[in-house]
Amino acid sequence: MEDTFGRNIRYLRLSVTELCDLRCRYCMAEEGVCKRGHEELCSFEELRDFTAAAAALGVTKLRVTGGEPLVRRGIVELCAMLRAVPGIEELCLTTNGTRLEQLAAPLKAAGVDRLNISLDTLRPERYREITRTGKLENVLRGIEAAERAGFENIKLNCVLLGGMNDDEIGDFVRLTAKKPWQVRFIELMPMGVCAAWPPERFLPAQEVLSRVPELRPAGRSGVAQLYLLPGAAGTVGLIEPMSCAFCADCTRIRITADGKLKPCLHSDAELALRGLSSAELEAAIRRGILMKLARHRMDETGVTETHRGMFAIGG
Ligand code: SAM
Ligand code: SF4
Repeated sequence: MEDTFGRNIRYLRLSVTELCDLRCRYCMAEEGVCKRGHEELCSFEELRDFTAAAAALGVTKLRVTGGEPLVRRGIVELCAMLRAVPGIEELCLTTNGTRLEQLAAPLKAAGVDRLNISLDTLRPERYREITRTGKLENVLRGIEAAERAGFENIKLNCVLLGGMNDDEIGDFVRLTAKKPWQVRFIELMPMGVCAAWPPERFLPAQEVLSRVPELRPAGRSGVAQLYLLPGAAGTVGLIEPMSCAFCADCTRIRITADGKLKPCLHSDAELALRGLSSAELEAAIRRGILMKLARHRMDETGVTETHRGMFAIGG
């Protein structure tokens, strides 16, 4: 359905957990999140019912996210359940990739159409430093497993961290010369633990073009402005949330793992969805869509208005 600004809302980002096996410094505190009791986490049936109500209102694309979605027990069965919801035409999943080596093939068989894999560095020691706990080789093996399982158009998400990984921009771009991937550079947003970071950590994505002047414009894909190295197999995407470049085209809503509808990533407005009948769910999601604002104000204020960290929303 359309929101009050004529945007056709057809994309739901559904968080299935707040827990994660990594502790990326910009996303989570070292001690992680307090473990919620089982009853606080939405059940598979609840997640399916939210998805069905959103689909009844015109949502066709679903992204499963988290926390780390692949740490949720039964994630493969959950994906199969969500893919079977009438009206859902595309099921995507965003993951840190650490468990993909085991799960890529089952996820493909369960009907997951596309994967976004987060990777902020190609250097093993730095990977451990940024994620506090992770091993780069697990993710690299996970990406290989995803390719073997037949996933196409794999997207690698790299958050630009000034002074921490910007010296690898060229290395990431060069991956696209041979691999048919979309390497996406995402501007760091001042949310949760990184909200207090110094300004030099926050780089505009346009920095990528200064560092790699050979990149040529190649159109747009969703929220990403695309570029291409001449003759490359893959593409480079720039995602610029801080500049508000894509609010006008925002077709998304989000549902958190504790069952709150978020009309906008950067607003604190939330609607509780748990315990509602399917008619009530549809009415609540309709209300949420109509609450979407024209745009966030982060480019003016430099701060987000949401109190949640990214792990508690899903990106
Ligand atoms: N755990 C999964 C992963 O890392 O892909 C899914 C959830 S994670 C919150 C989704 C995406 O949000 C990741 O690509 C992560 O790098 C990104 N992210 C987390 N905090 C961010 C921030 N403050 N600004 C920009 N992107 C952020
Ligand atoms: Fe976990 Fe993803 Fe946050 Fe990293 S970005 S801590 S992998 S939820």
